[in-house]
Amino acid sequence: MYIDSHAHVEGHKFDSDRAEMLARACEAGLERILAIGSGTGPGTYDCALKIAEQHDWIFASTGLHPHEASVATEADYREMARLAKHPKLIAWGEIGLDYFYDHSPREVQKEVFRRQMELAQDAKLPIIIHCRPSNNSENAWDDTLQMLRDHWAPSGLPGILHCFTGEWKHAQAALDFGFYISFAGNVSFPKAKNIRDAAKQVPLDRMLIETDSPYLAPVPHRGKRNEPGFVVNTAEAIAQLRGTSKEEIGHKTAENFYRLFPQTR
Ligand SMILES: [Zn+2]
Ligand SMILES: [Zn+2]
Repeated sequence: MYIDSHAHVEGHKFDSDRAEMLARACEAGLERILAIGSGTGPGTYDCALKIAEQHDWIFASTGLHPHEASVATEADYREMARLAKHPKLIAWGEIGLDYFYDHSPREVQKEVFRRQMELAQDAKLPIIIHCRPSNNSENAWDDTLQMLRDHWAPSGLPGILHCFTGEWKHAQAALDFGFYISFAGNVSFPKAKNIRDAAKQVPLDRMLIETDSPYLAPVPHRGKRNEPGFVVNTAEAIAQLRGTSKEEIGHKTAENFYRLFPQTR
């Protein structure tokens, strides 16, 4: 059994074969998918929920991605807070800081991130964190972890570092305040030393796996469109690093998902 804790299944890249793609995921042994509802920002906050409403094994998040932070208005916050009350809406995200693309000014990204942490706390929903540093600095990690420490950790609520690409020390810091670390297909890339190093060390009871479909397909699908069924390949890559089986990684990460989101069990 496997759970894909992060997939963008509403994207137009799946428009031609979404039903077949989901059928392949079931065949591959997937029990649940957390469909991420950040979409393209305003007007799309319910994009994952619409799919979750059609499939009892799919659940949804909503949130404003840091890429779109500069367009945030009060109406956007109100809409997300309204959707957060839906029974199949189980997490707030993806939210955070992206200093790689810098699509929105960093100060704006921080304010929108802080504001959504506040709303997620009101809704008592775990948050899903996107953090991507620029090529030559660790600042996005320092800033993200500091903001989590200041604005999230006091709530005692959990969260997920999605598509983890940091160093082991960043994972450790987040583990210390109750976060789960989710690994994506890039853990299977031979040159991703820091990710692979972290994947060896994260305690098995705090790990999740994801595809981030349609991006970042794991080996042997690297370079192609990614889809939830390929989460099995990510489990296999982690299993090789840790000297265990992909079934064990699948089972443990699924148990973690059910602990984090008991309403999906
Ligand atoms: Zn992301
Ligand atoms: Zn994503």
